[in-house]
Amino acid sequence: MFQVPRGTRDFTPNEMQKRRYLEQNMATTFTSFGYGEIQTPTFENLELFTAKSGESIINELYTFTDKGGRELALRPELTAPVIRFYVERLQMEPKPLKLFYFGNCYRYDRPQKGRYREFQQAGCEIIGADTFEATAELLALAFTLLKNTGLKNVRINLGNLTIISAMFKKLKLLKDDQKTLLPLIDKSLFDDLKIALGECNVSEKEIDSFISVLQSSDIGEIRSFIADDHDAMKELHSMEAILDLLKNAFHVNEFEIKLSIVRGLDYYKGLVFEIDAPVLGAEKQLCGGGSYELVSLFGGTVVPTAGFAVGFDRTILALEAEGFIFPPSKLDVFIIPVNQDMVSTSIEIAQQLRNHNISVDFDQLRRGMGKSLKYADAKHVDKVIIVGPKELEKKTVILRDMKTGNQETVAITEIYGKLKKT
Ligand code: AMP
Repeated sequence: MFQVPRGTRDFTPNEMQKRRYLEQNMATTFTSFGYGEIQTPTFENLELFTAKSGESIINELYTFTDKGGRELALRPELTAPVIRFYVERLQMEPKPLKLFYFGNCYRYDRPQKGRYREFQQAGCEIIGADTFEATAELLALAFTLLKNTGLKNVRINLGNLTIISAMFKKLKLLKDDQKTLLPLIDKSLFDDLKIALGECNVSEKEIDSFISVLQSSDIGEIRSFIADDHDAMKELHSMEAILDLLKNAFHVNEFEIKLSIVRGLDYYKGLVFEIDAPVLGAEKQLCGGGSYELVSLFGGTVVPTAGFAVGFDRTILALEAEGFIFPPSKLDVFIIPVNQDMVSTSIEIAQQLRNHNISVDFDQLRRGMGKSLKYADAKHVDKVIIVGPKELEKKTVILRDMKTGNQETVAITEIYGKLKKT
């Protein structure tokens, strides 16, 4: 027997109903912030991802050579494809360009709950604006996007790669050392970080204050550590201005500075952030993003870029864990022809109602009244229409309310009006 490939999933109609609900909900929020939807291919030229995505992504790539000998990869994320698209075709568009997307991503990762080899991301990029208000809005959008789905508890954690660089500089760490230290910081492995810093000849006192700043959300403590670095101080001021707008204009308060947020991808710079859903435990990161530089690497004219990606699958898991009730998938009406002669009238009624956007099915298995009603019940149908010869003679049918069991005789011409009312 065949099985789905490891790390991939099939989705039932019920699960798809949840996914479609979430997609529509998120598209509405993106649109309300002035974003327009785009789509890019599922696979890209391999080089697009090996250029700057960083080792962790490259190690997880699904790559293949096509019949023309081209080296291709299934996309592991969507930022690089979107910027490729921008540089290729959208550079002349009025700025800022606000783009959102949904798309499947592929990573050869170790599958577990909330971590798959094929998963969907919802994300966006803003190209051409990096004012405080643009960045604060991006953070507010990420937060609102998740809250609007129905999630109750999400928290933003903010890091800054310019500040981290200044902190490395202060400890006189070499670029190579930084490469091995960043993953430890990213995973908050502070004991291992302590050992690694010791091996880089950093004094114990400096290690302690470095790790303390990494874990601190106190701007004062961060400021005193980086006070003599001009770029980092400027970045800290920007962060304060952005957070001021986020709090006092967008009224988003659920955030914290956490400099240990450094993100796995190599193209980020400056502000980075993640949003967690604590209810998920281990794989709780729902969203990751920040400002980055890819445009010039892809041959475009330098322009500020920032964005984020939300793990679509994890958002569903978080909603389920919080006990969210998704709108159920529903069949509005089920029609039961009492005998074979009633079938064509049943079909005509079904078609009429479908033209009014009512979801309708009719018994196609000739299984009789009792079994048909049982089926309608199992499908959580609101109303059943029974088409019988006696009623049909008078151009009527029986309309049954499945919740109450009440039945009434209704003229065929009045079925829609009656359904609309209820
Ligand atoms: P990243 O592109 O790694 O920043 O991921 C952005 C978001 O996508 C994460 O916060 C997760 O919610 C989601 N995500 C990343 N990798 C996976 C995966 N293997 N399976 C499911 N969701 C994922």
